[in-house]
Amino acid sequence: MIKMRALVKEKPEPGFVLKEVQMSENLEPDEVLVKIKNVSICGTDLHIYRWDEWAQKKIKTPQIDGHEFVGEVADIGSQVSMVKKGDTVVSETHIPCKHCIQCRTGRMHVCKNLEILGVDRDGVFAEYVKVPEIVLWKIDKSIPIDFASVMEPFGNAIHTSLVTELTGKNVLITGAGPIGAMAIAIAKHAGAAKVIVSEPKEYRIELAKKMGADLIINPQTDSVIDKVLKNTDGNGVDVLLEMSGNEKAFRDGLEVVTNGGEVSLLGVFSGNLSFDINGLFTFKGLTLHGITGRKMFETWNIATNLLKNKIIDLSPVVTHKFKLEDWQKGFEIMNKGESGKVILQVE
Ligand code: NAD
Ligand code: ZN
Repeated sequence: MIKMRALVKEKPEPGFVLKEVQMSENLEPDEVLVKIKNVSICGTDLHIYRWDEWAQKKIKTPQIDGHEFVGEVADIGSQVSMVKKGDTVVSETHIPCKHCIQCRTGRMHVCKNLEILGVDRDGVFAEYVKVPEIVLWKIDKSIPIDFASVMEPFGNAIHTSLVTELTGKNVLITGAGPIGAMAIAIAKHAGAAKVIVSEPKEYRIELAKKMGADLIINPQTDSVIDKVLKNTDGNGVDVLLEMSGNEKAFRDGLEVVTNGGEVSLLGVFSGNLSFDINGLFTFKGLTLHGITGRKMFETWNIATNLLKNKIIDLSPVVTHKFKLEDWQKGFEIMNKGESGKVILQVE
C-alpha cells in the first residue's frame, strides 16, 4: 500500500480535508503511477470546494479532487510503452474509452464515454495518481515546472482560439480569467489584428493588460457593444472567443460579431440561456464551435512547442504558489477572483 497525503472531499459538504490515505500499488497493464510535483486549481475545483449545485449532482464522496498536474513517472504497468520511470509528464484530464465511434474516428476529445480525472474518479490533489498511459504527455525539462502544471488550461485556451483562423482578424475575448488571459497572448501570436477583451474584475483587467490586450472594456462601466463597434469601424469583430460563462457577456459578444463571423464557445454557464438566437445567430450566418477540453494530442503538441520555444510567456498568469498544506489560502484567493492560476506544490 502507498501511504500519501491527499486533499479529500470526505463528505457532501463545502471544503476539503487534507489527510493521509492509502492506495494500492498494483497497476493495470496499461496504467502508470505518477508522483505528483505540482497541481493547479481550476474553476471546476472551486465548484467542488464550494459544493454548489453542479458539484452536489456530479461528485460522489469520498473522492480526491483536482486534475491539473505535472509529475514524474514512478512505476508502469506491464503493457505500458509510451513512458518510462523518471519521465516528466503532464496529462490530459479527459480519459477516453478508446472504443466508441468518436475514439475510433480520431476524435477522442469528444469521447462518448469520457471520464474526467478528479470529477468522475479520484484526482490529483495527492502525492500519487494512477492514470492510463493514453492520457500522459511526456515533456522535456526545458519547460518550467510551473508552466507545465497549467498546460491543461493553456490547452483550453489554444483549442478555443485556434479552432478558427485568426490572422488579420479582429477578435473579442469575453472574460479574462486565467484561460481568457492565456488566449490573449495566443491570439496575438496567431496574428490577430486587434484583440479586444471584456472583463469586470480589476485584478483580471491588469492581467489582460500584461498579456497584451489591445483594448479592455469593463462591462460594468462601459457599453461593450458601443466600444467594440467604435474600435472596428462599425463592423464588429470577426471572431468571438467566449471565456466567461456569463450570459450577458455572451449576448453582448454575439451582438458585435460581424455577419458571417465565427464564435468559439468555451465558457460554461450556470443555467440555460434565453436570448434571440434567430437574430443574434442564425440570420447573421455565424459559425459556432463548441469547445470541450483539448484535442488529443494536437493541442498538447502546440502547447509544448509554444512553451519550449518561449513563444508565449505564462508568468503573468501563474500568480500564486502555495504548499499543499496551505491549500485553503489558494482556494480562497481563487474564490475572490484575485489571482491568475494558483499552484499547489505537492513535492
Ligand atoms: P474564470 O471563472 O476564472 O474566468 C471567467 C472570467 O469572466 C472572470 O475573470 C470573470 O470576472 C469574467 N466575467 C464575469 N462576468 C463577465 C462579463 N459580464 N463580461 C466579461 N467577463 C466577465 O474561469 P477560467 O478558468 O478562466 O475559465 C473560463 C471559462 O471556461 C469558465 O466558464 C470555465 O467554466 C470554462 N471552462 C470550460 C472548459 C471546457 O472544456 N468547455 C474547460 C475549462 C474551463
Ligand atoms: Zn470513446
